[in-house]
Amino acid sequence: MENKPNIEHIRHSLAHLLAAAVLKEFPDAKLGIGPVIENGFYYDFELSRSLTPDDLKTFEKTMRGLINKKLPFTGEEIPFTEAKKRFAKQPFKLDLINEFSAEGKTLTIYHTGDVFSDLCRGGHVENTSEIPADTFKLDKIAGAYWRGDEKNPMLQRIYGLAFATKQELDDYLAMRIEAEKRDHKILGKKLGLFTFSPDVGPGLPLYMPKGNIIRETLLEYMRELKRAHGYQFVWTPHLTKKALYIRSGHFGKYDAMLPPIDADGEELAIKPMNCPHHFQIFNAEPHSYKDMPFRIAENATVYRNEKSGELNGLFRVRSLTQDDSHLIVRHDQIASEIDTILDLTHQIYDLFGFKNFKVEISVRDKANKEKYFGTDQMWDDAEHALIEAAKRWGAEYRIVEGEAAFYGPKIDIRVEDALKRNWQLTTVQLDYNQPENFDMSYIDENGKKVRPAVIHCAILGSVDRFMGIIIEHFAGAFPLWLAPVQVAVLPVGEKFSAYGKSIYETLMAHDVRSELGDANESLGKRIRAVEMMKVPYVIVVGEKEEAAGTVNFRTRDSEEKSNEMKLDEFIDKVEKEIKEKKR
Ligand SMILES: [Zn+2]
Ligand SMILES: [Zn+2]
Repeated sequence: MENKPNIEHIRHSLAHLLAAAVLKEFPDAKLGIGPVIENGFYYDFELSRSLTPDDLKTFEKTMRGLINKKLPFTGEEIPFTEAKKRFAKQPFKLDLINEFSAEGKTLTIYHTGDVFSDLCRGGHVENTSEIPADTFKLDKIAGAYWRGDEKNPMLQRIYGLAFATKQELDDYLAMRIEAEKRDHKILGKKLGLFTFSPDVGPGLPLYMPKGNIIRETLLEYMRELKRAHGYQFVWTPHLTKKALYIRSGHFGKYDAMLPPIDADGEELAIKPMNCPHHFQIFNAEPHSYKDMPFRIAENATVYRNEKSGELNGLFRVRSLTQDDSHLIVRHDQIASEIDTILDLTHQIYDLFGFKNFKVEISVRDKANKEKYFGTDQMWDDAEHALIEAAKRWGAEYRIVEGEAAFYGPKIDIRVEDALKRNWQLTTVQLDYNQPENFDMSYIDENGKKVRPAVIHCAILGSVDRFMGIIIEHFAGAFPLWLAPVQVAVLPVGEKFSAYGKSIYETLMAHDVRSELGDANESLGKRIRAVEMMKVPYVIVVGEKEEAAGTVNFRTRDSEEKSNEMKLDEFIDKVEKEIKEKKR
């Protein structure tokens, strides 16, 4: 029976063909690695000159030629000494061979016909004829240090896209053009939402009035929702004794911590997370089994030492605000609390119109148990609890070994945006170890001291990153409840300025965020300007409206350019839509 080739195999095989094509033009090329990635593959090379887009066309042509030759992929197992001989002129491959020989693994080489051989663990098509010639494209060239280490040579990385069908490739390319138009860094500037100042520094966003309205509205929404579910809000400082993070185990282990600062002989850490602070709040008072779960939340700004090369608009920043919460729970409450978090998460994702939730459950790497705090039993229980919760929630899930934090396993949830791109948003972490570290306890019904468990959870994750995501998801056209300006009031001319102003003031008195246009500009120009700013409602008023005490409005999303309504009715309608958080 013939099996349809798997897309991962096609992508990986194309990486081999790319290396073969590069070697044809650059016989002295030094080869790095060529893995499969999301939507395609890449391969790293050290070459005698910088590549140009024309080179990519040449390589693509060669690759298509190789596909047409119907070359078989065949594996060969060889001893390390033999591998070293065959790759004697390939220093990066020798690096890998030495590494594998230290690990004591067997080495395989894959041959593509007789045109190319590479060190590889496999996962190919059986024959190049199985690769569709029109469903891949060499995409771009980037620099990448060998093994990602800046002490190593900089290589040239060629990225390729590859899909199962031509349609998928075309859809992906079209989506990418749309994504460029929606780039939150460009829209953020155009809509006056946030800025970065060289004097403040990279990765430190400054929210402008309009952007801050969105930010505060999101944070307030999280506050309301969590309060309604029994969370209590707290505030904790941005600085703390370094000793707190030594106790939590983060110090020296958590790379994103900024170096401590000296404050009059005391070493102070700049807070990278809120957990140990929240534990102090729990420990400040005794607790009975009856007060559990103890749910605390904070919309808290923390600081992380992100590498400057990895900073990216609001997606990756050095100061980020999390909608953080810590639930300190009895063991019999774990399942129901995680279920509640997942339900909240669902409600929030639906509100924004995110789809296709996918769950990743990060568990420990059982081969390296010394990396983790706590006993085997604790880990088994915690991992089991998360897997069961994911099953009950019903979304597609997979288990990722070795991705757990040192203090506990976690659930990460990914969602799909309007462009079908995936974003990881929510993290729920179950932790049996920090309660030990911080000697947390409650008194059970028999008067005995018992260790609780901790559930760490941020639903939006970083509010900054979430803003970046929704700016692109909505293409800047925020739903009414989030829009910085909800209604623009445009009098048709100077004569109706007073009527326009009275409408504007009435709207503002009803907490409808409004803007009054300057009647000196032409009406057409003013309408275009508010449309550019993606204001949901635009009111135009002139003689007829003033005489009747009405407003004439158009909505951002509708073709209908004229809807007349009494001002009171209009306010009721808008207030209702804001309250319902209508999309
Ligand atoms: Zn391979
Ligand atoms: Zn935490």
